[in-house]
Amino acid sequence: MGSIKNNIQEISEDIKKYSPCPEKVKLVAVTKYVGTEEMTDVLASGVNIVGENRVQVLKDKKEKFDQSELGSKIKWHFIGNLQKNKVKYISDYIELIHSVNKLSLAKEINKRAEATDRIIEVLLEINIAGEESKEGYKIEKLYKELPEILKLKNIKVTGLMTMAPFTEDTDLVRRIFRELRKLKDDLSRDYFQGELKELSMGMSGDYKIALEEGATLIRIGSKIFS
Ligand SMILES: *Cc1c(COP(=O)(O)O)cnc(C)c1O
Repeated sequence: MGSIKNNIQEISEDIKKYSPCPEKVKLVAVTKYVGTEEMTDVLASGVNIVGENRVQVLKDKKEKFDQSELGSKIKWHFIGNLQKNKVKYISDYIELIHSVNKLSLAKEINKRAEATDRIIEVLLEINIAGEESKEGYKIEKLYKELPEILKLKNIKVTGLMTMAPFTEDTDLVRRIFRELRKLKDDLSRDYFQGELKELSMGMSGDYKIALEEGATLIRIGSKIFS
């Protein structure tokens, strides 16, 4: 267990070191690489937000944890590409969906949330670099669909998420994060009465840059588990 604990400790120190507002930053432990045993070590290290990118895996792990008292301690985040027909498997309990990237998905989440009398918090996933291979809203489509999304009563948009391109070019990565931050500030002012708060950006390779650029949720997997 030593190393998971040490890695988390190191990341916690980096949050204080690199973020201008460390008290607003939450670590999402991305547990897609590991089983429930390693996840128990994560919880023991004081991290209770867990991110998964596959519905079936998330659901299986949750069912396992629900058999123990740890079940109620975990806040489950969904971070991957979400298919509409799978929303129903997580809509009862998911704390945050980071990856809303189309209106039809937002509508499905809204419908499922309504059915269980919940308001589900979501982030809009943005493809800042406009890469063809990537999921996420391109800016133009975002502005087109946002008014419709805002009409949905059972979802609450609390922020934006992006994945930086896979590159050694740290200036480019920083630019992408900075643009997401700016977009968040613009949308917050124009559509959210200043209440759009969250910026989910930064993974194992680039979280320090993301922190410097204002990330409030960093999604870290390999750095915790290697
Ligand atoms: C896997 C994954 C991460 C974590 O990546 P690491 O480089 O292992 O830290 C973060 N976000 C998403 C969407 C992922 O799929």
